[in-house]
Amino acid sequence: MDRFDVLVVGAGPGGSVAALVLARAGARVALLDKSAFPRDKACGDLVGPRGVQLLTDLGVAIPAGRRVGDMVVVGPTGRRVRLPSAPGTTYPGYGISVTRTVLDAAIRDAALGAGAEARLGRADRPVVRDGRVAGFQTADGRVVLADHVIGADGATSRVATALDLVDRRTALWGFALRSYVTQRVELPTIVFVETGRWRGLPGYGWLFPGPGGRANLGLGTGSLSVRDGTAAVRALPGLVDRLRRDGLLEGPVPEGRRLGGWLKMGAAGTVPARGRVLLVGDAAGLVNPLQGEGISQAMASGAAAAHAVLDTPGSAAQRYAAGLATASFPFLAIAGGMHRSMAGRPAVVAAVGRLATAPVIGQLVAGGWAIFWNDLLDGAPPSADRWVARSAMALGKALLGTRRRIGEEPGAAPPPPAPGGPASLRTAVTRRR
Ligand SMILES: Cc1cc2nc3c(=O)[nH]c(=O)nc-3n(C[C@H](O)[C@H](O)[C@H](O)COP(=O)(O)OP(=O)(O)OC[C@H]3O[C@@H](n4cnc5c(N)ncnc54)[C@H](O)[C@@H]3O)c2cc1C
Repeated sequence: MDRFDVLVVGAGPGGSVAALVLARAGARVALLDKSAFPRDKACGDLVGPRGVQLLTDLGVAIPAGRRVGDMVVVGPTGRRVRLPSAPGTTYPGYGISVTRTVLDAAIRDAALGAGAEARLGRADRPVVRDGRVAGFQTADGRVVLADHVIGADGATSRVATALDLVDRRTALWGFALRSYVTQRVELPTIVFVETGRWRGLPGYGWLFPGPGGRANLGLGTGSLSVRDGTAAVRALPGLVDRLRRDGLLEGPVPEGRRLGGWLKMGAAGTVPARGRVLLVGDAAGLVNPLQGEGISQAMASGAAAAHAVLDTPGSAAQRYAAGLATASFPFLAIAGGMHRSMAGRPAVVAAVGRLATAPVIGQLVAGGWAIFWNDLLDGAPPSADRWVARSAMALGKALLGTRRRIGEEPGAAPPPPAPGGPASLRTAVTRRR
């Protein structure tokens, strides 16, 4: 039987960053994953600017990462808009493209280098002692005991379901799949897809640059509270045809390298922390419901959970939840509300896609759109683009409100404000040794 200060379940970006911050501070950390590393993961392989900043702050070097800046969006009618990438006061003006095999192994190696101990096994059942979670038992019967458990085990988190932290009726799901193609792609390209005239898909296809002359081709769709990936699977051949027609794709798409995965979005239907258990990343449902980004959020929440455990071990869950409530939930509530209100209305999705990529309008809103949907408003320097993004936030709030508080225990009092203010979750990475 193993005993630790913290058991981190899942060694993706969220879990490994949590383990790294904890281990550097001298905590005894077990980093448990069901897969042997290096391992692949279905992903578009783009780390956004906030994620790049976090990795820099943590001093984690990512080998073979390729810088990506501006992004091209192709509307349903083939019209194109270029979304500019600009630096903010808290993030650089670029993201990186790096395979998950490389990225996840690099962060995990940093955590193990800092003293976290790797364990191979599938977390299965919580171990409960004196009425509180005191660790987890793996599927092959081994027990790992710890004072705190950080659930970083992805969208279908066993930690979250075993502890009844997910409400299936209100969770917000998406599904996406990707393939690799041999093609040099300069700018990340997003394609709004219609399955019939004026029948917009609540999601998008993509062709993203990758290292070594490869590109990442994929498609993701939202399916509200139902976990259903069939729309994405069905739409993929149409996307491939479309990319060919538009002159964006040249070679074949190899079947064998296709991989799919779930996205749990908008922090919807998930209690992020209770007692001595904290959920981070996809386990907490932190994926951006507007564009599917989740790596930066996973790493930021992993760091925040680690700091909450280190700084206030007796009330880490409250501290962590309060940080999320101020830093992440306002955007996620609006983005989730927008996603929800459009997902079942293909004509509305089509109209928005056409309008946003229409001549003049597309050019006018592109800068603000890039800030808003990438959740880069906090830290964006004053400009007309920031004004557009602010207006989008204000409009979203006015139309949808943040009436339904997300991520809280039913009937619970609102959490206390996060020490350090709203930005503390995003910037709370200090190197401790
Ligand atoms: C097709 C696709 C494309 C995407 N593209 C992008 C993109 O381009 N950019 C972006 O930012 N985000 C993207 N996302 C979202 C992104 O992949 C996730 O948000 C991100 O991986 C979340 O990190 P995480 O650490 O929370 O979880 P994960 O990366 O999912 O890691 C979870 C880990 O937990 C382990 N695990 C699971 N269950 C158990 C268990 N019971 N016991 C032990 N270990 C367990 C898994 O093996 C895994 O290593 C995409 C998602 C999909 C599906």
